[in-house]
Amino acid sequence: MPGAPPNPPMWGILPMTRDAETDSAVAKPVPPSGVLGILGGGQLGRMMALAAARLGLKTHIYCPDPESPAFDVTPRKTVAAYDDRTALAKFAACVDAVTFEFENVPAETAEFLAARTMLRPNALALAVAQDRLREKRFFAERGIATAPFAPVGDADELAAALAKIGAPAILKTRRLGYDGKGQSRIERADDGARAFEALGCQPCILEGLVDFTKEVSLVLARGRNGQTAHYDLAWNRHENHILRQSTVPAAVPPECAQRARDIGEVLLADLDYVGVLAIEFFVVETPAGTDLLVNEIAPRVHNSGHWTEAACPTSQFEQHVRAVCGWPLGECRRTVDAEMTNLLGAEAEAWPALAERGDSVLHLYGKAETRDGRKMGHITRILRNGLDTGNRN
Ligand code: AMP
Repeated sequence: MPGAPPNPPMWGILPMTRDAETDSAVAKPVPPSGVLGILGGGQLGRMMALAAARLGLKTHIYCPDPESPAFDVTPRKTVAAYDDRTALAKFAACVDAVTFEFENVPAETAEFLAARTMLRPNALALAVAQDRLREKRFFAERGIATAPFAPVGDADELAAALAKIGAPAILKTRRLGYDGKGQSRIERADDGARAFEALGCQPCILEGLVDFTKEVSLVLARGRNGQTAHYDLAWNRHENHILRQSTVPAAVPPECAQRARDIGEVLLADLDYVGVLAIEFFVVETPAGTDLLVNEIAPRVHNSGHWTEAACPTSQFEQHVRAVCGWPLGECRRTVDAEMTNLLGAEAEAWPALAERGDSVLHLYGKAETRDGRKMGHITRILRNGLDTGNRN
């Protein structure tokens, strides 16, 4: 058939676009035995390094912390600050491509590396994800619904934002917030100044409080050639602002799942994105039916995608490595229903009992120090036919 891709696309994977074909001719894939540089040495870097090793690739992990758990599983490492230009230049000279495990890579570091080697995802994706206001505006410009929001840079803007959005609301720092840090809830409008001061009066965004029924996330990927692939939506539950459990499939109407994928495709294309992207959504009930609001994006592999290593032929980690190294994307069909639970702090000390569970896949991060709430590992339980998820309509 003229114009058809040479092979039919696999389930969940779209054929490459023409623009991206041109792009792929410029950059050759990183071959097995090539070196993928990773900024950040936490559990996400560690799991990417393990996935890269399965494909015969070597990793070079760059992290300032000498105790980084990813250092245990990488043949090459650099212990240096993210603004150490001498170390960054050496690192860039001995890798074939660079990616990262965290979105707060300083802009100067990203620019410095991008000028010397292939950095994926790109600096635009980092810039959008690093600033909650820029991120929300990026969504709004594309007609993607979010919580109502307004910028807060000073007392006058705070008053205007509260007048526009009302209370209750959430004040969030524009930068460097994660796991609920850098947020302050405002119950009444006269509570705004206290919240702003609690966040150090730094540039913030005020968001209306969303009355959601569920939080779900989409993990999807785009290759260097423009090919895209998505995993199933996960239903996420948080405790103390930290992800506790993700269950797949998330029980949302099919049109909602489709809407999430459509939003994902727009973001991948408009960010000229390469790699795995996670999008967090609020599910809301409206008179017109179930709807989705985007909360935020993460330009990296994501905790709510850890289940993929137990339930899909290609995990999110391998998918990210494939994408940033210019390989074809892998099959990401979900073969079973699954529930991933984070092991926080001392919970991982129950490893002997957890390792005995015949229905679960255990993953421990090898972190030397246990701290309250610290992510020490996760366990993914395989659910038979999804009947025991408690998550079905
Ligand atoms: P974030 O750091 O933006 O991911 O927020 C952490 C958690 O706070 C989210 O997973 C939600 O549970 C909650 N949250 C954040 N923003 C809102 C909002 N506008 N309305 C209601 N809950 C929110």
